[in-house]
Amino acid sequence: MAHCPYCLSPVSKKDVVCPACGAEKGYLYFNRRSRGLVFLFAFGLLIPLAVVLPFLFYFQGMGLPFWLAATVALGLAIFTIQRLVVGPTWYR
Ligand SMILES: [Zn+2]
Repeated sequence: MAHCPYCLSPVSKKDVVCPACGAEKGYLYFNRRSRGLVFLFAFGLLIPLAVVLPFLFYFQGMGLPFWLAATVALGLAIFTIQRLVVGPTWYR
């Protein structure tokens, strides 16, 4: 039996909300809510693509703005992979 890290109440593996304190299990905490896989993929893959693709198609440039965008995209991708490896965690 697992325990909620916030209130230490027992929670089952299937629980996505702590019955005692309302903590939520998810992959990402955003805007005061725990978010699932869809949100993680949107955040970690679509945003990086949206940031980098315009540079590749419109600017054809590899100047500083591109590398800044690429760094942000890479950071988000690494963050996403790390969240996937760790698995869902509790947020409150
Ligand atoms: Zn709890």
